[in-house]
Amino acid sequence: MSEATIETHTPLMRQYLAAKRQHPDALLFFRLGDFYELFFDDAKTASRELQITLTARDKERSVPMCGVPYHAAENYIARLLRKGFRVAICDQMEDPKLAKKIVRREVTRVLTPGTALDPALAAEQSNYLAAVHFIGSPTAPSFRAGADTDSVGLAYLDLSTGDFRATEFSGPGAAAQCLDELLRLVPSELIFPASRGPFCAISDPATLDPLLAQLKTRTPVDDFAFSADFAIPLLQRQLGSHSLEGFGLANHPAAAIAAGAIIHYVRSTQQSDAGHVDSLHFYRRAEHLHLDQVTARNLELVEPLFFDAGPETTLYRTMDACCTPMGKRLLRASLLRPMIAPAAIEARYAAVDAARLDLIHREELRRSLSGILDLDRLLARISLDSAGPRDVLALASSLRHLPEVLKSAAALSSPPEPASAASAPSGSVPERCTLNAERLSFWSQIAAALDPLDDLCAAICSTLVPEPPLTLAEGGVIAAGVDPELDDLRSIGSSGRASIAAIEDRERRRTGIASLKVRFNSVFGYYIEITKSNLPSVPADYERKQTLVNAERFTTPELKDYETKVLTAQERCVEIEKRLFAALRARVVENAGRIRRTSACVAEIDLVANFAHLASLRSYIRPRIDPAPILEIAAGRHPVIERLMEDQGDARFVPNDLFLDAGPNTSHASLLLITGPNMGGKSTYLRQAALLVILAQMGSFVPAQRMTYGIVDRVYTRIGASDNLARGRSTFMVEMTETATILNTATTQSLILLDEMGRGTSTFDGLALAWATLEHLQRHVGARALFATHYHELTMLAEQFPRLKNLHVEVKETTQGIVFLHRIEQGPANRSYGIDVARLAGLPPAVIQRARQVLKEHERSERHNVAAETEPSLQLTMFTPLSQRILDRLAETDIDSLTPLQALNLLEELKTEIRG
Ligand code: ADP
Ligand code: MG
Repeated sequence: MSEATIETHTPLMRQYLAAKRQHPDALLFFRLGDFYELFFDDAKTASRELQITLTARDKERSVPMCGVPYHAAENYIARLLRKGFRVAICDQMEDPKLAKKIVRREVTRVLTPGTALDPALAAEQSNYLAAVHFIGSPTAPSFRAGADTDSVGLAYLDLSTGDFRATEFSGPGAAAQCLDELLRLVPSELIFPASRGPFCAISDPATLDPLLAQLKTRTPVDDFAFSADFAIPLLQRQLGSHSLEGFGLANHPAAAIAAGAIIHYVRSTQQSDAGHVDSLHFYRRAEHLHLDQVTARNLELVEPLFFDAGPETTLYRTMDACCTPMGKRLLRASLLRPMIAPAAIEARYAAVDAARLDLIHREELRRSLSGILDLDRLLARISLDSAGPRDVLALASSLRHLPEVLKSAAALSSPPEPASAASAPSGSVPERCTLNAERLSFWSQIAAALDPLDDLCAAICSTLVPEPPLTLAEGGVIAAGVDPELDDLRSIGSSGRASIAAIEDRERRRTGIASLKVRFNSVFGYYIEITKSNLPSVPADYERKQTLVNAERFTTPELKDYETKVLTAQERCVEIEKRLFAALRARVVENAGRIRRTSACVAEIDLVANFAHLASLRSYIRPRIDPAPILEIAAGRHPVIERLMEDQGDARFVPNDLFLDAGPNTSHASLLLITGPNMGGKSTYLRQAALLVILAQMGSFVPAQRMTYGIVDRVYTRIGASDNLARGRSTFMVEMTETATILNTATTQSLILLDEMGRGTSTFDGLALAWATLEHLQRHVGARALFATHYHELTMLAEQFPRLKNLHVEVKETTQGIVFLHRIEQGPANRSYGIDVARLAGLPPAVIQRARQVLKEHERSERHNVAAETEPSLQLTMFTPLSQRILDRLAETDIDSLTPLQALNLLEELKTEIRG
């Protein structure tokens, strides 16, 4: 049977189908009694996705059906949303007991992956809804052609916290940059104008499809939502402002339209005005250390690179000892958006240092922070009307810790305790003076900025009872003394128990039945219960209500009167409580702006305290910023591996030094080429350099003895053999695209890591490409760069480029084989050790032996070849293409000075070469 034959349906099914027609793209949860039911294809989908039993509503018509209890629906819905489905909630709009005919039902909310509040969302995670808007000519996609007028706006909102941001890209490559930013955010949902496609600025499906596949849910929205006339005024109303200038959006219409479209979508799905979304942060990527999504992944900043690896391999996990969810989210965001303004970074160092030196106040501070729950999410729940009394109370009990936070923050802004000052080495006195001035700035500023919200806290605490029930349905939420009428009505209820006892007592005496009881239940109301044996003594004015096996239940006119009085009082109480609770809720929402500002202060305090705590715990040091593009690290450690090794009780991490200088007027190395066996520590050394820079530019202290660096504008990474295959492009193609980005966009301020470049293709091509890349980096880019490779041949480049320096990872050769020392030393590695590593890996001894034999023979013939050459530069022939070699040979031959015999000999030589 199909849904189409509508006339044959029951009225209930007709109601269902009408609701479903309005939301064809959502799974419709239809409230029936204590269940939400799904029908037809929705039922099949839900039963498959949620593993719940599929039944039929109506056996002979066989309407597929499945359902979940309404009180457990939240979890089921969250699971569907995480899988990318949309869910429409169709609720009963009147009390079924009071409905005359069929209960009126309406869709009250549409939940989508990007707008729903997922109760299981981890504290540090964000749930972004994103919108992209493209202004320009869609026929000249900026991804390729790059018309200057094109601009791409990106806006995104985490409705669960009210975090709302926008940015805009313009000029050539704008769309590609926008896509990169989008992929780094990994939004749960992307909305786009229905008639234009999800990312109309990029027309090339080969580029777009694999990338878009990573964006789980893409939702088309009516085009009008993306029109300037509609979206911009809507955004202004939401932000309560007549102009977008104050939000930095005045000259960024594409970003403003994308933001307006988000507001439209949120309002239409939530059927709420989302009052907590009252500000928007416009930013430019150039305001931060730029980390593209490839680099963020390669460096495992927030997500592990491999799915089977635990989260402990991420820098986020290593650096998270934050006490509040807001702090955790700020840490995560800061990892992806480190700073570039030296003054801001220095201010953070100073703040961290102050808290690091003052253990007592730092610990006090962290203790009070631990009592603060997720202010942003509580506020969002309250503002979206999905909060119960306990959420509001949780907000208050969090606010209660703010005065202590304020006190500790203020204490940190005052001069240090004499004890800690005395322990400082005497030579550092002048430094300490500047430190005091600096410390005053952050901690006293934040203490001044932190609004402890005591008025709001007091209002909530005095309105609600200390332990309210989960919902408002039964009342009992509002404290005594708040509303005189409520107090009166409640006294009827409580005096009720005394009245019942009085009635019971009197009736027992009147009838002489000692076992007579006055009781209440929700179906029959108040009644008098008499056991069978006492029935003869029942007075005539008793009215029979119900017969049980051993007893009869009666009522009397007095009891009926009483019942009405009590029940109306109760209903009235619940009504009053609902009104008072709504007023309290409104008061919280009115203060949304203050709460959000306080929450932002708390996040910042938590982050700085976290850095101070880790610095002190793990002996991290304060980095020094230098105007020159250098990177100098003494005894640096990889923060994540160091922690993992400590946890496993393994050997200690071996610290290493690093020095790079990309300045124009020095002869120092700007490119380090690291060779050595696999497992020697090359990749670790590379990543460590980038991680330390990222930590430093977040304002954190770093695991090293000393670090001096010039601000980095962008970190690039190209790390071989990753799992990009999953994205449908060959590893080699990915590698070359990433390398192209580096060579085309890096500046002298950038830091570049190239790890095992050229692995994805034949040795020959790979080596040639790596060679050319290194040349280009040295000649044209001049950035600070680290290059790890297993191609020994590349070490010869040092002869051509004085600013390329060879390093190698040290190994010790023992009689049992090789031992990795994980120490980085000057100069190229002397040999490759591939066979030694294979032996360590357990390859059969016979295979190892044979491999050594083959290698020896190969080396002998190689030596022979090399010896035959006279020109040192021709030692490179073993990887120069044959035709190129012949061409080079001819080019350098001066025919005029050649005798005919020499010419013949040359010809002979070239022929031998071709034959090999
Ligand atoms: P490569 O890139 O040379 O193959 P890796 O950098 O991947 O080597 O290092 C291999 C392993 O060696 C790492 O997983 C780590 O456990 C260990 N290691 C690397 N560097 C160090 C170090 N400095 N101190 C201690 N162990 C290290
Ligand atoms: Mg490696």
